Amino acid sequence: MTYDYSEIVPYLLHWYERNARILRWREEPKPYYVWVSEIMLQQTRVEAVKGYFDRFLAELPDIKALAEAEEEKLLKLWEGLGYYNRVRNMQKAAKLVVEQYGGELPADYEALKKLPGIGSYTAGAIASIAFGIPEPSVDGNVLRVLKRISASFDDITKEKVKKELEEDVRQIMPKNRPGDFNQSLMELGATVCLPNGKPLCDQCPVMHLCKAFHQGVELQIPVKPPKKARKLEERTVFVIKQECNDTLEIVLHKRPDTGLLSGMWELPNVEGHLTEREISVRFPEAEIRRLPDGKHIFSHVEWRLWCYEIKLAEAIALPVNTEQGTKSFTLQEIKEQISIPSAFDCCKKYMDGTTEEQKKSRKKS
Ligand code: SF4
Repeated sequence: MTYDYSEIVPYLLHWYERNARILRWREEPKPYYVWVSEIMLQQTRVEAVKGYFDRFLAELPDIKALAEAEEEKLLKLWEGLGYYNRVRNMQKAAKLVVEQYGGELPADYEALKKLPGIGSYTAGAIASIAFGIPEPSVDGNVLRVLKRISASFDDITKEKVKKELEEDVRQIMPKNRPGDFNQSLMELGATVCLPNGKPLCDQCPVMHLCKAFHQGVELQIPVKPPKKARKLEERTVFVIKQECNDTLEIVLHKRPDTGLLSGMWELPNVEGHLTEREISVRFPEAEIRRLPDGKHIFSHVEWRLWCYEIKLAEAIALPVNTEQGTKSFTLQEIKEQISIPSAFDCCKKYMDGTTEEQKKSRKKS
């Protein structure tokens, strides 16, 4: 054991009983619900996840339904959460669970960890919360809380540091309430021992035991190596509109099956910042309008987006990335079936042919 955390256990459980937020996956901690919520919570705050969770469960109420879902439907349900490979991995895991375990997640920490997309954190959460198995569930939040309590300046991005902390938690975990204990650490990290800015130490149930607080070093912990600068990429994006049988259609492009946003439908785009003149050479017969610029930040890349609306009188062979194929869709089809990554949010609102400014001026008149 690198540090004896056993003293914090009763204080955290007592605090959790009184302060746990009421959440559907806590009220009804079925293994499938815990799994879905934990994957969603890896990228989004609890408040935002609630709506996505309810919508997902309404459409895919169990693991069999998840295993059998069409990919487009799955991606549509995940739209807005990002990291689409996470839901694809969930489906791969669901298929295995149907084949190997009759459609129910196994009550076994090691077996859970073997499923695609389920690492030690998610396996520990499912095992402890849904099955009452005393296994740790250590993510960035829990690492931050515990490293502050012990005033440790270890680099928390190192796998060895995480493994040691998992072992420390395993040693002190109350065998009768493992799920509550893991959730008390998660909840403290989410609501009190905050990641950005000052933690709310005066509301913390373990302040009297927290070494970082007593040494005044809570803002210096957790320690992580400096992030590498993101690569900057400029792209010119096209909202291409065409009339087909008196119906407005929007042209979308399918991204390659590997790499960033793999296999997703996107607004057609090309590398670099094209001027209106260069675009008019590509689309000689089109009506071209400059739209507001945008940007999107991925973990390693930042996109600067230069956006244009292109109105075509008739469908043409498109001079933009067509290697994977482009296809036009009605707005209704996009709304109901197609998931477009949030990287294109700056342009999406211009797809319906009515800008916000036009809507406002219509309301006024
Ligand atoms: S006292 Fe402050 S730094 Fe320490 S665990 Fe509590 S909130 Fe975090």
